[in-house]
Amino acid sequence: MELPYGFLQKGAKGRITVPVPSYLIEHPKGRVLFDSGLNRITQTEPEPYMPSTGLQFTTFHFEPGEEISARLESLDLAPTDIDVIVNSHLHYDHCGGNAQLPKADVLVQEPEWNHAESLPDDDIGYRKADFETGQKVRRVKGEHDLFGDGSVVAIPTYGHTPGHQSLRVRTEAGEFVLCADACYLRHSLDHDHLPGILHDREAALRAFALFRELEAAGARILFGHDPEFWKSVPQAPLRLA
Ligand SMILES: [Zn+2]
Repeated sequence: MELPYGFLQKGAKGRITVPVPSYLIEHPKGRVLFDSGLNRITQTEPEPYMPSTGLQFTTFHFEPGEEISARLESLDLAPTDIDVIVNSHLHYDHCGGNAQLPKADVLVQEPEWNHAESLPDDDIGYRKADFETGQKVRRVKGEHDLFGDGSVVAIPTYGHTPGHQSLRVRTEAGEFVLCADACYLRHSLDHDHLPGILHDREAALRAFALFRELEAAGARILFGHDPEFWKSVPQAPLRLA
């Protein structure tokens, strides 16, 4: 999707086109999806799903075949094969595919859920159609070890929103930190350069400090919306409809 650059990096001019990532994690005890991307409706009919107040900022470049169900299909998985969706937060570009995953529990930080529920229907960041989708919601508060073995751990990184979380994933290939919107860009982390839109500045800087610490300890940091970084990430095969 395309946004004002200044939303992601305070003071930046012009617009930026960014990836909207979802990550599949396969664990012996279940399949986890970290974020579910955009709502499929934005491919063909962004309005009225997204009010015109939102569309004046955001342009969707989202093609049929890129929605989460199709991306899973490209890995020979059905939407019903997903057991848990960990939503970093409930902005439309992170839970827009939840409705396509009917058998998955939704794991979200409690302050994020409460915040999203409290907003009016015309909020442009949070669309109720994306997160009021009927699955079981697991509201957690703070750090949460999904399988009890330390391999997939949700970590609170409040700041971007009141209840944002990131995910630490330990694999045979090393440890990964899926930042989501707690850190959009490599540049942000290297220069402590905050976004133009932010819920809590101090909390956001604490999240940056945590990511730097984890990176120094050997973890690979996966940024939330970095187009340059994204080119270096191995991706599932894309099968266009
Ligand atoms: Zn985002």
